[in-house]
Amino acid sequence: MTQPTNPPPEHQTADPIPQLCCHCGQLTREPVLVGEAHTASGAGASIFACPEDAPLFGENAVRLEGRTS
Ligand SMILES: [Zn+2]
Repeated sequence: MTQPTNPPPEHQTADPIPQLCCHCGQLTREPVLVGEAHTASGAGASIFACPEDAPLFGENAVRLEGRTS
């Protein structure tokens, strides 16, 4: 009766995990996927850049969005 049925709003947002920019080396909370490194083991490593450096990678940059609207 006293327990809310809806979860707290902060639990509904899915923010991207902070990643190191491959260009300037700074940790960014808005990582932009600019490439993928495929290894022989099959585990691909994602390459990220910060929003400021993302344009340097042109059309390969894929902005990570927490949600689509
Ligand atoms: Zn950067």
